Amino acid sequence: MKDAPARLYAGFDGGGTRTTCVLCDSEGDVLGAGFGGRGNYHDIGVPSALASLKRAFAGALDRSGVATGRVRLEACFGLAGLDSPKDMATMSGAVRSMRLARRGAGEGRKDIVENDWRTAVAGAFIDEPGVTLIAGTGCVAAAQREAGRRVARVGGWGHLVDDRGSGYDIGRDALYAAMRESLREAVERSAGLAAADLKAEKKSGLRVHARTGQPCPVCGDTVREVSFADSSLQYCPTCQTGGKPLADRRLSRLLK
Ligand SMILES: [Zn+2]
Repeated sequence: MKDAPARLYAGFDGGGTRTTCVLCDSEGDVLGAGFGGRGNYHDIGVPSALASLKRAFAGALDRSGVATGRVRLEACFGLAGLDSPKDMATMSGAVRSMRLARRGAGEGRKDIVENDWRTAVAGAFIDEPGVTLIAGTGCVAAAQREAGRRVARVGGWGHLVDDRGSGYDIGRDALYAAMRESLREAVERSAGLAAADLKAEKKSGLRVHARTGQPCPVCGDTVREVSFADSSLQYCPTCQTGGKPLADRRLSRLLK
């Protein structure tokens, strides 16, 4: 006897840093979760955002142990960066290419594509009034009075406009703090030095500059050099290029 196809629901959260897909049955029990990379198409382009969604779905399906051929699927996508009708059209089109709603879910079935703050509010409160404050890669507050009614939002327009309290904001503050500290130390060390001694002082704080062939003070790898026509730069392959040696432009040109 043939079993009826399982009716499953896939919920996607495509954020600025990673994408999550959770697969559950009609009782709401979670069968599997999968993860993908960054999900905001404004940051990485449509093909990469779509690849993240596909990877998350494949992971969730794999962990659920459900055979793909025996699934009736309905999906809801909550995606970061969907603010305009053009955004909605762009990602709705991309999501359609995954053909999730075609997996025997019935004619005319459409996947739901929404902004991530809207799905967060619906997921947290369903029919009840409530407010969510999301501090992820970006930052946004959203509130609903009751289900199906207008969801009001504040912020969430991206890091160029407003991002206070977001991961992006915290990371930028950390970089500022590191730069301020380096500059403060350099100013302290250079106090009282004659102008002629400043170059040597500057070099003392640098870890790869003018240190070709010497061990990196951080990891011990050998500092390498790339030469240009009238200048050169030094770098540590382990710390700075993920182990990849950079092509020497001067040498490459000669070899052509
Ligand atoms: Zn190093």
